[in-house]
Amino acid sequence: MEWIDTHAHLYAKDFEGRISEVVRKAREASVSRIITIGVNGQTNPRCIGYAEEHEEIFAAVGWQPTDLDELGEEMELSAEQIATLRGQASHPKAVAIGEIGLDYFRLPRTETPEVLRIKERQKRVFVQQLELAAELGLPCAIHQRGDGTFEDCLELFKPFAGRLRAVFHCFVSDLQAAQAFFELGCLISVTGIVTFKKAEELRETIRSLPPEKIMVETDAPYLAPEPYFRKLCEPAHVVYTGRRIAGILGLEPEEFAEISSRTAREFFWKMK
Ligand SMILES: [Zn+2]
Repeated sequence: MEWIDTHAHLYAKDFEGRISEVVRKAREASVSRIITIGVNGQTNPRCIGYAEEHEEIFAAVGWQPTDLDELGEEMELSAEQIATLRGQASHPKAVAIGEIGLDYFRLPRTETPEVLRIKERQKRVFVQQLELAAELGLPCAIHQRGDGTFEDCLELFKPFAGRLRAVFHCFVSDLQAAQAFFELGCLISVTGIVTFKKAEELRETIRSLPPEKIMVETDAPYLAPEPYFRKLCEPAHVVYTGRRIAGILGLEPEEFAEISSRTAREFFWKMK
């Protein structure tokens, strides 16, 4: 049996000096692959570094919408930053552009000039990276959180549908949203949230989704599934999330492990 953690942040402080142990624990839990996701200019090269050091680890590189401080006053990634990202994404073990997307979660609701500026910058950086992913033929991992981001993400992604595939990570939306993603040729991935007591609605949605469009992830170090709720989340824990989804879909854990791993290997086509 094989599980794949398609989204983890191994550069997190909690994992410092422990990467080998984290990988070993994952292996012992039959998690054979971990995709570690960068979020900015600092973390992207570190993700590539972990991928170089460990056979089990692959990397995704990108600028996350809430991690744009390095841009200073600039509204876009510079030509140099794009060139760096292109170089990193061309690494044999870089399997995706991500995470990228839109996040209005912590923004005030009133659209002051400053709020509009932040949203505009997120959108521009998102589109720049969609363009790069399309150019390189790589899939991307999309982060989308906060009111209005679903609509804005779809609008910006639509022109790329057909030449670019994306996974909407940490899926917590409804059936309609899932169908909108699928219609664009995209997939979803689900975190430990699906095991949380209060996530009954999410479980109800997943019940009617096609198993071959769902990948599993930890988003480690965050969102540890039951029975590790509120503890440090590690890639090994993706098994609990996968087992729970299998149960929801009426499948044996082995069946869903096989389906979701096959989906992940096809989607992240550079992953060996
Ligand atoms: Zn993430």
